[in-house]
Amino acid sequence: MNKRNRPSRQRRERLGKQGHRGHHEMKMDDSVYQLRRQVIRIIYKVNDLLADHGLDALPRIQVRIVDGGCGTAGFARMGRNAVWIPKSTIGKDYLYRVVLHELLHAVLATEHDLNCKLMHTHVQPDLTDAEATRIFLRYFGAEVDARAEDIAEHLSHTGPNPSYV
Ligand SMILES: [Zn+2]
Repeated sequence: MNKRNRPSRQRRERLGKQGHRGHHEMKMDDSVYQLRRQVIRIIYKVNDLLADHGLDALPRIQVRIVDGGCGTAGFARMGRNAVWIPKSTIGKDYLYRVVLHELLHAVLATEHDLNCKLMHTHVQPDLTDAEATRIFLRYFGAEVDARAEDIAEHLSHTGPNPSYV
């Protein structure tokens, strides 16, 4: 018997509400565990960053690796400390930015903001990990100095129709 083959009704409802559109959680075998570790490692790094700024660590985050479905880079349960990362996002250069984005949904229930490069509905190709980190920390109330490079990036972003992925 393997109960994981059949998600509980509660879980199916929860996933349905998230609009997961065909994603399913992968069984936690060794390979999935390795993928999940990459996300956990980012969460540890985030906790170090928060500590560096005198802020509390994140609550315990439920991390699930999912497979299949559409091209969504990640999703979260608003304010419920749970994130889902598709297998296809692991190993991408934007994994770090996606995890920060989903953590803001999951921990602070931060909504999308088309004027924010990190909380935009789409991964912003010109958002660097460094700027994503600064934006993330500001949402948590950290005082992070805006750097000249942020302003330059912002100005370069005001043109018509930047290409999103
Ligand atoms: Zn989002």
